[in-house]
Amino acid sequence: MSTQEVRTSIVWDYAPAPESPDHVRLRDSYGLFIDGDFRDPRDGTRVPSLNPATEEPVAEVAFAGPGDLRRAVESARRAQPAWAALSGLERGKYLFRIARLIQERTRELAIVESMDGGKPVRESRDVDVPLAAAHFFHYAGWADKLAYGVAGRRAEPLGVAAQIVPWNFPLLMAAWKLAPALACGNTSVLKPAETTPLTALLLAEIIQEAELPPGVVGIVPGDGAAGAALVREPDIDKVAFTGSTGVGKDIQAALAGRGVPLTLELGGKSANIVFEDAAIDQAVEGIVNGIFFNQGHVCCAGSRLLIQESVADTVIGKLWERMGRLRVGDPLDKNTDVGAINSREQLDRIRSLVSAGEEEGAVRRSIECELPDRGWWFAPTVFTEVAPAHRIAVEEIFGPVVSVLTFRTQAEAIEKANNSTYGLAAGIWTDKGAKAFEVASALQAGVVWQNTYNHFDPTAAFGGYKESGFGREGGPAGLRSYLRVS
Ligand code: NDP
Repeated sequence: MSTQEVRTSIVWDYAPAPESPDHVRLRDSYGLFIDGDFRDPRDGTRVPSLNPATEEPVAEVAFAGPGDLRRAVESARRAQPAWAALSGLERGKYLFRIARLIQERTRELAIVESMDGGKPVRESRDVDVPLAAAHFFHYAGWADKLAYGVAGRRAEPLGVAAQIVPWNFPLLMAAWKLAPALACGNTSVLKPAETTPLTALLLAEIIQEAELPPGVVGIVPGDGAAGAALVREPDIDKVAFTGSTGVGKDIQAALAGRGVPLTLELGGKSANIVFEDAAIDQAVEGIVNGIFFNQGHVCCAGSRLLIQESVADTVIGKLWERMGRLRVGDPLDKNTDVGAINSREQLDRIRSLVSAGEEEGAVRRSIECELPDRGWWFAPTVFTEVAPAHRIAVEEIFGPVVSVLTFRTQAEAIEKANNSTYGLAAGIWTDKGAKAFEVASALQAGVVWQNTYNHFDPTAAFGGYKESGFGREGGPAGLRSYLRVS
């Protein structure tokens, strides 16, 4: 046997590498964070927040009723003038403090994020929590430089912001919303998603520890009805929402004629385009990161994989081989690549779209893996022979499922990529810089990555076109959503 054969026959066994939740000190029950403290709901309820990997409760959480939401908005209104009157330098100090406290509690936040939401702890530890801190750091730096962000014009805060975030990046989305709003002198009432309220409540503890004046931030977990009631509160000056396109449209209708500025960051069906001149192995890593990161629960997931026909068989072959090495299972194990599906409802939605793909004639391949008995899981899946009209090529699956389409020319790639009601993100894999720029400028997508995917940075604007929403979050562009400029 040659040395080469010996080397390639090595099989790596993974020993379990569980992150211990022992030092996490969650309360048994959390109140609503209103007026600087945790309070019992007046007309809300208390519900358990479940671990999607075990279906066991992690902690009990208060859900706000309409009266509780009113109380939170009133408190934010009272706090706003004094917060806006602070110098930018002083507001920035509070944000720096929050950023540092997030860093200090990184491990705990990462573990709770994975227990409450199902994502691999490697991702919460290396992506969600550091990026959440980075957003606070970034906007802390802007707080005393707003005049430069809107050069030559006068900028004032809008007032009280109602902010609604989804379950896929609970802490990170809270940071995306709160940091720019507070830097600009607004106060906020934030509603976390029903299935993942816990890290937002730990953030409330951090906000308390940072001694933010009461009312500057209210955090009110609740269900969809609470979100709907919050955007209908009469005394709000701004709504920022991240979530599904359907709910985004409902919010837009609710605000029609009220003159309340709105930013919507909605769904996507983003194209990840692989040209024949791409570094194929690198592209395969990017495809895997684009669709299996966070179980595919990512608004900008590269869920439509467009491959140039001449390299399609090679790319699909290598992708399939790489998928076979993904480790699916316990989110708290540091070896895990793909964790639990966030909720039973989301699992049902993924299953129903995957069945539709099979019925419509696409070819499905899911990796063989042992899935735990309890909890909600879905094996990483690739569909080939997909037609542009198939539901799996059109609708957001929001799971670990990628639909492969092919193209022959650059023009066809652009046309197919833009053939979507969405327009959130895209990836381009090529070693020709000029081609990447040409294709990027023809794509209807808010973010285009070249030779990488799912790469986030607080200094860069993020947002969509078409039914993926409007308004930008991140960077100086993210300030404009929270300022009245005259
Ligand atoms: P939603 O849009 O329903 O949830 C997002 C947030 O809005 C949650 O906090 C939710 O509360 C709240 N909400 C629900 N209904 C209303 C309403 N009428 N008015 C105001 N706020 C409301 O997404 P889902 O959780 O139902 O997921 C459904 C699909 O949406 C997914 O399968 C996926 O395709 C897409 N999605 C896209 C996301 C993105 O980042 N673009 C993020 C999440 C989902 P509650 O949690 O209680 O429902």
